[in-house]
Amino acid sequence: MSETNPIVAGVGELAPVSDEDIARAQLTVARHARDAGELRELLDMLGLREQPAPQPVSKPAPIPNTGRCRDCGVPTAHKRAPGIARYGGRGRCQMHYMRLIRAERTPQ
Ligand SMILES: [Zn+2]
Repeated sequence: MSETNPIVAGVGELAPVSDEDIARAQLTVARHARDAGELRELLDMLGLREQPAPQPVSKPAPIPNTGRCRDCGVPTAHKRAPGIARYGGRGRCQMHYMRLIRAERTPQ
């Protein structure tokens, strides 16, 4: 792709940036940033912040329906039957399973 902006085109071909160059640029930006938030923002704008590698999400093993909610003790079933709570997951009725999921999603 050829650059049409004369100023950018005048720079010519850019040399590949080494890890050392990136580290020096990060330190320079850090010296001028007023706080950590500004540093993060500036590094992101300049493409100098390493993004953490996405961690594989470890999903807990499914817990089969034991017949009773481990939190409230109501009888649980996969299909709703009179007097029986619907099984949600992880050994809990639907209501307690949803509470557990919501609590886990709430930032600490
Ligand atoms: Zn329950």
